[in-house]
Amino acid sequence: MAHKINLELCIGCGACASVCPTNAIVPTDDEKYTINESECIDCGACVEVCPTNAITQE
Ligand code: SF4
Ligand code: SF4
Repeated sequence: MAHKINLELCIGCGACASVCPTNAIVPTDDEKYTINESECIDCGACVEVCPTNAITQE
C-alpha cells in the first residue's frame, strides 16, 4: 500500500509536500508533484490538504 498522486488532477500547489512528515513528496519536471513510495508511511496527511482530491491510497 502507498499513496499516489493522479497527475491528471494535480495542479502543482505543493500543499501536500508541505505537510508530508517524511518529505516523500517531491516536484516533477513538469511542475507537479509525485510521491516517493519507499518513503511514504501512509499517514494520509497529504490527502486531507489536496484541493483537487488528486491523492489516493492504492
Ligand atoms: S500519506 Fe503521509 S507519508 Fe505518505 S506521502 Fe502522504 S503525507 Fe507523505
Ligand atoms: S496538494 Fe494535490 S494539487 Fe497540490 S501539489 Fe499535492 S497532489 Fe498536486
